[in-house]
Formats: sequence, structure tokens, C-alpha cells
Amino acid sequence: MLPSMMMSPSIRLLRWYEFANCVMKKTKSPETCSGGPGVRMQFSGAGKPLIKFRHCERSIYSFSVPQCCPLCQGDMGSTRIEDAPISISDPFSNGHQEKCSFLLKPTRGTFLREYDGKSDLHVGLTNTRGVVYNYNEHGIQRDEAGWEQSLSVPLVQPSMFGLMDQWDKYLEDFSASPAWLPHRYEENHYNCSSFALTFINCILAMEGKEQLDKREFTEKYVVPRTRLASKYIMLYRAIQERGFHVADHPDPVTSPS
Ligand SMILES: [Zn+2]
Repeated sequence: MLPSMMMSPSIRLLRWYEFANCVMKKTKSPETCSGGPGVRMQFSGAGKPLIKFRHCERSIYSFSVPQCCPLCQGDMGSTRIEDAPISISDPFSNGHQEKCSFLLKPTRGTFLREYDGKSDLHVGLTNTRGVVYNYNEHGIQRDEAGWEQSLSVPLVQPSMFGLMDQWDKYLEDFSASPAWLPHRYEENHYNCSSFALTFINCILAMEGKEQLDKREFTEKYVVPRTRLASKYIMLYRAIQERGFHVADHPDPVTSPS
């Protein structure tokens, strides 16, 4: 549709350089982290929530707060309030529950299990019922499953009723265009992100807003999420392997982003 929509190869997750805080929420009190039944927070995308706590002047990450510090074996019961456990939000969401959103996931497998930091990513757009429209070598796909662990960028403010009302029709009409026939697909230059970004730019044009090129879109909306996801994946796997993870830095309390 737009000749300027030449895409570079798939967006890739950034490598992260240090352990630092993800988006965190204070839990009410340490006893909610003692692993008792029914106190676990619900996370839509991944599996177990991650917890960060402090002991021995270090930040320690695990799936739940242990009875004893894994470093000094000391009792965890008497932590200071500033060292109280924090739960780390899962950056993933079930794409089929996200309306009018841009979604990213690994082309094969899931972020938490298979993603290695270099694997290709696939992107799509949801309609108001969570059907994921995406473009690949077989043409436009309308997926009702398979995007359960995605990174999601909402594209429509809840207050934009007019756009929300028409969204499904716009997306369906756009997808029916011959521009997205299978034979036009090219892995590096005319691919899933060409489809998604061209649609986003059509919407922006209708709204009288400025177009986004791929770099702008990636830097503004994708990179902050993939950066967070990389940290989370790394932490998750480290904890899965050893039961806990100790931050390299003495006190990475402030968020880098
Ligand atoms: Zn300790």
C-alpha cells in the first residue's frame, strides 16, 4: 500500500546488560509471599510470579520468599520494611484478551521456554474480540489461538469509541486487500510487520495524525517492552534453574527505564 513500508528483518529482543528492576509492585506484607495456598497473584501470560526481596545487602529473586536467606541461611522473618518482598509483573499478556492491540511473540515456541534472544519474532493485530490478524507466507491469518503469551501494545484509547466501533471492519477490509496475498510475502522486506505497521499508519492517517516509520514505532512502543521481557525471561530461567537469583549489583533499587 505505501511504498515506503520496506521493513528490515524481524524485530529482535534487545540484549539486557544488567540485572535491574522490572516493573514492580509492592506486596502487602511478607506473609503473602510465604507460599501458602490461595495467596499467589494471578498472572495472565506466564506461569509463576517472580518475587524480589533483600537480604545480606543484596537483591534476591525467586518464585516465593523462602524461610531462610539462600545466602546466609538466616531467618527471613525479621526483614526491615524497605527490604520487604516486591512482586515483579509478568510482562506478557494473553493476546486473545487484548482488544485493538499490536502483539509480538516468537515465530516458534514461547518467550519463556524457547526464546533465545535471537529467534525471529512474529507480530499481529487484534480485533475487538481478540482474533489476531497476521501476515505470513500463507497470506493473512486470523488466529483464535496461539498468542496466549504475547507482548502487547494497545493501539486505541478506551475513550475512542468511534474508532473502536469501526475497528473490526477496518481491519477486515484492510486484510482483504490484494496487497496481502501470499505470493507478495517476502521474509525480510514485506512481512508481518509491514502488514501491522501499514495498518497502523492507515489508522493514523484517518485520525489526521503523523505517520510512524518502522524505527520510530520500534523505539517508542516495542523496545521498552522487549527490554523488560528480556530481563524477565532471563530472571525466570535463572530462578527455574537454581531456585533463586542474586543481583550482581549491591542495590539496583531504582528502575532504569
Ligand atoms: Zn542473608
